[in-house]
Amino acid sequence: VKIILVTGGVISGVGKGIVSSSLGVLLKANGYRVTAIKIDPYLNIDAGTFSPWEHGEVFVLDDGGEVDLDLGNYERFLNVCLTSDNNITTGKIYDRIMRDERAGKYLGKTVQVVPHVTDAIKKWVDDVAQRPVDESNVRPDVVIVELGGTCGDIESMPFMYAMADFTHPDHRSRFMHVHVSMLIDLESTGETKTKPLQHSVELARTYGLVPDMIVCRSERPITMSIKEKISNACRIKTDQVIGVHNVSNIYRVPLLLIQQNVLEVIESRFQLNRIEPSLANR
Ligand code: ADP
Repeated sequence: VKIILVTGGVISGVGKGIVSSSLGVLLKANGYRVTAIKIDPYLNIDAGTFSPWEHGEVFVLDDGGEVDLDLGNYERFLNVCLTSDNNITTGKIYDRIMRDERAGKYLGKTVQVVPHVTDAIKKWVDDVAQRPVDESNVRPDVVIVELGGTCGDIESMPFMYAMADFTHPDHRSRFMHVHVSMLIDLESTGETKTKPLQHSVELARTYGLVPDMIVCRSERPITMSIKEKISNACRIKTDQVIGVHNVSNIYRVPLLLIQQNVLEVIESRFQLNRIEPSLANR
């Protein structure tokens, strides 16, 4: 199963969830089977105990799992049925590790964040990615993994490290990193500022997560010259720089992605052949 990791930069609420769901819609509309995992790097086991004043409504899955509302977006956008395992939290990972430690499964080893926590994260992602999520009952071709929060958060670090392991040559052909970051539109001068975005891309790189696609969230549509500036500064091709400006209805976001040939970027990265989606399983 191919992995698309979606990370965010500059601010939380940058639109990672909508971009993740929209990438899924695009892939699904072109014949690929898609599943999704949301990583929430907090220590709570799940969202069930959250105050709705702080986090909004909890989304309840068919298996009773109480999770972040992003999972609701995935189910609606992708027409899939997810389980509580599709939501990974730091709490769930540590809960599993502590149980294994008490059961003596580490055979006397010192249990550490690297490699034990990072291995547990990778294993969880790989296991859940294989599970069928629609009526076809067939293994998905692609899993979209959305990492909550922003790059550089202390809580996210084990997840960033774990995901960066997929850039190892053994996995590189099945791993793609999409970084969603913020452009600042200055009202006073009419300028669009790219510096915070450049910094968040650099930060992601320090964890070994080089973006294969940069999604720029902005108030206004971005110009070609801004794309070229980001392309030069972040050392990626202009067709890997995608603009997603504020729209009146979030269901327009998949259309913005189609117009900028996002599917072609993904297919060329994974060497997928649209006529034969089963190739994605290789
Ligand atoms: P994140 O996953 O980064 O926290 P979300 O995807 O949940 O961010 O988006 C945060 C909020 O911004 C949501 O209310 C969402 O509907 C809104 N939003 C996201 N993308 C856009 C967009 N392109 N135009 C308008 N609103 C958007």
